[in-house]
Amino acid sequence: MPNQFGFATEAVHRGERSDDLECVSGDVVSPIHLATHHEMESPGNPGHGYKYSRFGNPTRDALESRLAYLTGASEAMAFSSGTAAIATTVLALCEPGGHIVAFDGVYGGTKLLFEELLRDTLDIDVEYVDATDVGTVVEAIRPDTSLLWVETPTNPLLKLCDLRAVATVAAEADVPLGVDNTFATPHVQQPLELGADVVVHSTTKYLNGHSDSTGGLVATKRSAMAERISELQEYTFGNALSPFDAYLVLRGLKTLPLRVEQHEKNAQAVAEYLVDHPAVHTVNYPGLSSHPQHELAMEQMNGFGGVVSFELDATEAETRSVLEELEVFTIAVSLGGVESLVDHPWSMSASFVSPETRRSAGISESLVRAPVGIENSDDLIRDLDQALANL
Ligand code: PLP
Repeated sequence: MPNQFGFATEAVHRGERSDDLECVSGDVVSPIHLATHHEMESPGNPGHGYKYSRFGNPTRDALESRLAYLTGASEAMAFSSGTAAIATTVLALCEPGGHIVAFDGVYGGTKLLFEELLRDTLDIDVEYVDATDVGTVVEAIRPDTSLLWVETPTNPLLKLCDLRAVATVAAEADVPLGVDNTFATPHVQQPLELGADVVVHSTTKYLNGHSDSTGGLVATKRSAMAERISELQEYTFGNALSPFDAYLVLRGLKTLPLRVEQHEKNAQAVAEYLVDHPAVHTVNYPGLSSHPQHELAMEQMNGFGGVVSFELDATEAETRSVLEELEVFTIAVSLGGVESLVDHPWSMSASFVSPETRRSAGISESLVRAPVGIENSDDLIRDLDQALANL
């Protein structure tokens, strides 16, 4: 399929057409190829290109061709989780004993990787900066810096960094810039277009969108980088996405633009409701004009995403009981599925990092994260209203 259609058209069609797969059945949906190995034409000559599913699989290829297009990349690789995608990328780019710079708001699991594997095992100096201010990034970069890693918006405080500015700093210093674009999705933000070298997503979240597949994505335009990452994926770690999960993500992607637009409408309505509530101390959502980086969000994002977080004027016990009163919102970790969730980061999604790290990252006992789903917004607001009435 030529590169000439819009995002929503490509999200439906790319990789799905039988001519892309040289499939003779005329299927309008990519089949799930379960074979782990393929007959060769002659010893050492696979003919059709497939040998062993860890090295390549037609369903995964269909997904990767769609993901490459949607992220503006030349190459995309589908992994067994977002964590596997991040770990493989980081290990492909870092030098033992070197230095990396990361946004202090990155996902807790990424911090665990940086601290327990890079710092404690590989002796890499990991330096966190408040990348909301690009000056801190400039100051932190050293001659031995091998990677700059950011996430925008961040989890769970929805802080942003200026991707174009950070990419310029990285390019001037000849340091690769990696961006975790999970919260924004490629529909809302295109880090490669803004200058990043490599982009990752947890496809577990919005890209699959239905809370029934764990996966990850790495996409880049840099062919040498892609080769190194895919070598580690295929030969060293063996952490590719399964054919069934690739099929689920292909299916989920078809409705990504529609879902993201509805998530955002509902998130905006929920954020505006919360701002006016007397029991709510702070609301974090880039779509609010009160968000400190609202202007930047309007500039670099095509929308504001579907996650809202807020701080209650309440004790930990009171905060927990508000969550327990909710009926439409489900108490669960994760985000990006069609259903609305609530998370108490202190005791749930961030509980695996130390209390000191949580506090220094701005995660308090009264913080609530709400990935807003695609339900009727009136129901969501009524649900929050009845739960907050107890405070
Ligand atoms: N990146 C972000 C921003 C996340 O929120 C998460 C998980 O919550 C991950 C990466 C890790 O993804 P996975 O759970 O698919 O390994």
